[in-house]
Amino acid sequence: MAYCPRCATEYEDSARECIDCHLPLRPGPPPASLLERKRRPLRSDVKLVPVHVFSGGTAVMQAELARDWLESEGIPCVLPGEASVGMLPVLDVPVLVCEEDADEATRIIKEYLEANATPGEDETA
Ligand SMILES: [Zn+2]
Repeated sequence: MAYCPRCATEYEDSARECIDCHLPLRPGPPPASLLERKRRPLRSDVKLVPVHVFSGGTAVMQAELARDWLESEGIPCVLPGEASVGMLPVLDVPVLVCEEDADEATRIIKEYLEANATPGEDETA
C-alpha cells in the first residue's frame, strides 16, 4: 500500500504518484495524523500567520515547494494570491499556516530550508 502525503488517498504499491496532486507516494498506510488533518480541512475563519516569506524571481516556485513539503508533513498551508500568479511578477510570497500549526510549521520549514540550502553555488560559478 502507498498513500499520497497531501490528500491521503491510498494507492496500490505499483503507483508512483498521486493522480490529483502529482506528489510522489509514500509507502505504507496513511498515518492517523494525516487522516485527522484531512477531516479537519483548513477553514476560512482560522487565523493565518506567515511562517516564512520567499522573495525574488523564484519566490513563487520556492513557496510552492515549501507548501508541498509542509503539507506532506500534515500541515495545511496557503499561498496568498495564488490564483493570480503568472500574470504579474510576484516578489514576496509568504507561506501562511493556521496559528495553531505555526510553531511546528516554523520548525519544519527551517529544516526544509537547511536541507535545501546550496551555499557557495553562486561563488564557484
Ligand atoms: Zn494526492
